Amino acid sequence: MGVQLWVKRDDLLPFPLAGNKVRKLAYEAGAAGWCANDVLITNGGVDSNHCRTVAFMAARLGAHAHLVLHSEVRPSNSSASLTLMRELGANFDVVKSGEIASTIAERLSHYRGRGCRVHVIPGGAHTPAGVRAYVAAGLRVLSELDGVDHIVVASGTGATQAGLSLAALQVSHGPRVTGVSVARGRARGESAVRQAIAWVEPLKHVEVDFDDRFVDGGYGAYGNETRSAVQLAWASGLPLDTTYTGKAFNGLLKKIRFGEISPGATVLFWHTGGLMNYLASTVRPSRSELAEDLR
Ligand SMILES: *Cc1c(COP(=O)(O)O)cnc(C)c1O
Repeated sequence: MGVQLWVKRDDLLPFPLAGNKVRKLAYEAGAAGWCANDVLITNGGVDSNHCRTVAFMAARLGAHAHLVLHSEVRPSNSSASLTLMRELGANFDVVKSGEIASTIAERLSHYRGRGCRVHVIPGGAHTPAGVRAYVAAGLRVLSELDGVDHIVVASGTGATQAGLSLAALQVSHGPRVTGVSVARGRARGESAVRQAIAWVEPLKHVEVDFDDRFVDGGYGAYGNETRSAVQLAWASGLPLDTTYTGKAFNGLLKKIRFGEISPGATVLFWHTGGLMNYLASTVRPSRSELAEDLR
């Protein structure tokens, strides 16, 4: 690739289905003081890494997860993601996106009415604690690795990028942090990153590079460019997915090709997880399931 490439493997954290949600939620758990018997309510897509991680953490803690999952079509009951949530003992509702807020409110009052201590966690763990988790992780890595010129990371809600950007600012000659969008357009994505930075450092001016050129069809969709970046990485033994990390890696390859990252530069690719997304993307619903969804 013509650069010195390092990969931060958050996909290998010692946690089932590791990834950036593990760091964010570990900080969230600490900040909110989650305990056994508490109820954790959150929302996300049926295939949300955030929701799966909440279900895992609840099971480990002896807490109870209630997931409000949104889907416009009825998901297959045998989907790997729903099966896993059931095995973990999580309860869930599958609702249309217009019904998320009212369902959360209903469940909140239901559990409170039974005397439970309830934590409502914003979708994607898009919280100040989630940003702080990545300030700490970024500082740790940058203290171990000298002379990083660029960090490239997949960016969705932007909390991960916000934390890494703040970390980069705290080291001398810190790297330029590029968040490669997995869905959002630049204006919306950049303002979300700025807002997340302001939760932690309201007075700092931070340059935000939210790159929306490699979205490749929108959230969960992908085309040939993402696909070939993913294939290239797998062929080198680096597992990437088509929803998140493959888009970021495609962005990294293109930035090198366009000369936006100079030959010989030291580049840190921050791997945020996504193996389960990769597996889901390889499974196409069967014809009968499709027919079911149309009914
Ligand atoms: C959630 C997620 C992201 C995006 O993280 P944000 O902090 O929301 O930008 C990236 N990669 C994977 C695998 C994720 O699950």
